[in-house]
Amino acid sequence: MERCTSIPNAMREALPILATLNEHGYEAVFVGGCVRDTVMGLALKDVDIATSATPEQVVALFAYCIPTGLQHGTVTVMQDGTGYEVTTYRKESVYEKHRRPESVAFISELKEDLLRRDLTINAMAMRVNGDYFDPYGGMGDIELKQVRCVGDAEARFQEDALRMLRALRFASQFRFRIVYRTWRALIKHRELLRYVAMERVQAELDKMIGGPAPHYAAALLAGSGLLAYTLEPLPGARALLAEAAKMERVQLDYLTTLRGTDIRYAALMTRPGVTQAEAKATLQALRMSGSRSSVIMAIVTLHHELLADRGLTGEKLRTSWIEAVLRYGRDAAESWLHIAEANGQEHPFSADVPSMKHWLSELEITSLKELAINGNQLAAYLDRKPGVWMGETLKRLLLLVALGELSNSQEQLQNQVDRWKEETDEP
Ligand code: ATP
Ligand code: MG
Repeated sequence: MERCTSIPNAMREALPILATLNEHGYEAVFVGGCVRDTVMGLALKDVDIATSATPEQVVALFAYCIPTGLQHGTVTVMQDGTGYEVTTYRKESVYEKHRRPESVAFISELKEDLLRRDLTINAMAMRVNGDYFDPYGGMGDIELKQVRCVGDAEARFQEDALRMLRALRFASQFRFRIVYRTWRALIKHRELLRYVAMERVQAELDKMIGGPAPHYAAALLAGSGLLAYTLEPLPGARALLAEAAKMERVQLDYLTTLRGTDIRYAALMTRPGVTQAEAKATLQALRMSGSRSSVIMAIVTLHHELLADRGLTGEKLRTSWIEAVLRYGRDAAESWLHIAEANGQEHPFSADVPSMKHWLSELEITSLKELAINGNQLAAYLDRKPGVWMGETLKRLLLLVALGELSNSQEQLQNQVDRWKEETDEP
């Protein structure tokens, strides 16, 4: 039996909970992610506790607790302001629709509780004294850097199809390989992914794409073909799957240099073979929030607008670029440049990126609110009724200032409006 020589602080702080349970004759251990991360020397996210006490017995012992999911056996116990999930040892019955167990039964054996867990690296426990309990070989798999299902992989994926995505997610998070039997079972049962809610698909994809090895995640997703079997289609992933099917090595290492999950999504959605409409449909299918979607789609739309104008050079390219920057905003433009730079020679605008970057850095202003005049001032100056015309006029002024053809002073802007008025008798 191996022993942890120094229990991480995050777990140490929860020790009084385990001690209380032990003093009353119940077993209590740390389980799951916190044990795995301790073995791997990683920072802990949350600390989970498993116990032989029933939920009622747990509730009876602690003054401050929240019955989070009593029927599943989970009680959140408060300790020094932090909540810890304390879950009764349980085994799961027949699974409904390849996702959720129909019912759970509370049991007294830790070993049996660990048996229901998805991967060996997630099926280890640690006792109060630092002793590890690892009946399914999680430590050995960590040493060998591999992901393996607890027990029969085919059965585990059939019970709960989400585990297939979790297997790929943990493999990419830790850069582990997937053992042959687990991989084969995943390929065999991949069509069961349609039983997984799209929200859950998004949550796992976020961790893969936002994680330390998004290129490896993409290779696993493409290689397994898993994304072709989601409940709702993900057309933005089709190009990637097709490239993988042709056994071409898809070069996605550059994703790693992009900071942030959403800019990586934007990089994937602006790859050749993905249309703007497909990108949008993909984000919708993934139930991406409105704010994330608009950040990503601004970059995607800007990209397609530039593509439509491809081949421009010199001043024409500069004007087209500045117009796009004004339309989609400086943030989207900067993200687009980051993606293009990271993608290097492969990017359709690789030759133009240095100039575009320079032009962006020269831009004095990029938004209407930075303009030295606002709509109301404009209306007052012209003695006109406020209306939609104001926005149109301000945009024209913004473009001239951004192009460097007009300076951003109220007087100059008013003069320009006067000139337009003379030309057309209307500003
Ligand atoms: P993370 O660092 O992402 O939080 P974690 O291992 O803590 O990783 P959770 O989703 O928080 O993952 O789940 C806690 C534990 O519950 C896991 O370690 C695993 O033992 C078990 N578990 C979670 N989801 C499943 C599942 N779908 N099937 C079987 N066991 C699961
Ligand atoms: Mg967790």
